[in-house]
Amino acid sequence: MSLIVQKFGGSSVADAEHVNNVAGIVTDTYKKGNNVIVVVSAQGDTTDDLIEKANEINPNASKREKDMLLAAGEQISISLLAMAIEKLGYPVISLLGWQAGFQTTSAHTDARIKRVITDRIKKELDKKNIIIVAGFQGLSRYDDITTLGRGGSDTSAVALAAATHADLCQIYTDVEGVYTADPRKVNNAKKLSEISYDEMLELATLGAQVLHNRSVEMAKKYNLELEVLSSLTCAPGTIVKEVTNVEKMLISGVAKDTDIARISVVGVPDIPGLAFKLFSKMAAKGVNVDIILQSIGRDGTKDISFTVAKNKLDDTLEALNQFMPAVKAQKVVHDERVAKISIVGAGMETHAGVASKMFEALFDAQINIQMISTSEIKVSVLIDLADADRAVSAIHSKFFDEV
Ligand code: ADP
Ligand code: ASP
Ligand code: MG
Repeated sequence: MSLIVQKFGGSSVADAEHVNNVAGIVTDTYKKGNNVIVVVSAQGDTTDDLIEKANEINPNASKREKDMLLAAGEQISISLLAMAIEKLGYPVISLLGWQAGFQTTSAHTDARIKRVITDRIKKELDKKNIIIVAGFQGLSRYDDITTLGRGGSDTSAVALAAATHADLCQIYTDVEGVYTADPRKVNNAKKLSEISYDEMLELATLGAQVLHNRSVEMAKKYNLELEVLSSLTCAPGTIVKEVTNVEKMLISGVAKDTDIARISVVGVPDIPGLAFKLFSKMAAKGVNVDIILQSIGRDGTKDISFTVAKNKLDDTLEALNQFMPAVKAQKVVHDERVAKISIVGAGMETHAGVASKMFEALFDAQINIQMISTSEIKVSVLIDLADADRAVSAIHSKFFDEV
């Protein structure tokens, strides 16, 4: 007998038909003699709809109240799935995040799981119950409901699998696995049979929403294999694990991130300590800075450009406005109509020319590069938002269609 954690995303439980389908998958697993813990997200677009409702009433609502609202989405889906399983005649219980023992930091809307206290889960498993847990939520030390950031149910599932020492953690979604690019945007994207934690972590962080990046980080930490697969076909999906058997591909995928803004501080004095002062202000505001580009000094001044997540743009501009007069910078300009396109692959550690191949694809498509950043296993470029989908397709074809 094994303990299996299965996670179902919003589209997998979007309506009654889908909920019944998931009930079938869960009870088939249970019938085979396994213990089953299920984590579910809110149905379909529920979380987006709730955010819209909040904005209608108060766009500046406190994060605590936003969490109180957003957590409601998962309460609906867990109870509906439990009802569908009850109807099939199996013992089942639904639990909210706090009931399942999820303790988090108090960083509302972006909380991190600190620990999962599994006493209740163990009791329910002893009773042979199928357990349905609300993903995406937990409880802070102040006994307030928290949420884990968009897409966070994946992380709930991985945390539960780690805490209960599950034998298998399956992430069911609306595509058949992890692909070389978003299969909804790139026609000939290929399904990967396996991918390493490091590559998956980069892809998830760089915009491939198929897995929440913290879920991959956690899976790597606990050396827990994940299987990403479709709740509609249940065909063998993609295994995310430490070392992959497949011959190292040059790159494993192309990702797009449009949740990004570029900021340029123009005409700052070309003296030591300027970057330190500027970026320590960002750090104090809790702003994570991504690609950084500094021009060569000319006539005693230089420009510093960098990117931040769109939801940090206001905080960033506010900090810069306070800071600008002190360093005698000329002006600050920003642009939200940008996208970051990245290629990820362990193969680039040992192969030269990967970046130039990416740049060639962009040149062929006549797409201008604004900024570039690289690490051992990724290359990212910042381009105009209007060119984003075309860029992904051009780069994908260059690496995967040409022999
Ligand atoms: P869920 O609701 O199941 O959590 P998500 O919408 O969060 O599902 O993630 C699945 C989606 O991720 C897919 O529908 C697909 O459009 C998108 N996606 C982006 N990049 C990739 C990729 N490289 N491989 C697979 N899916 C991807
Ligand atoms: N329902 C949450 C969201 O839409 C969590 C998740 O889907 O993982 O972000
Ligand atoms: Mg998701």
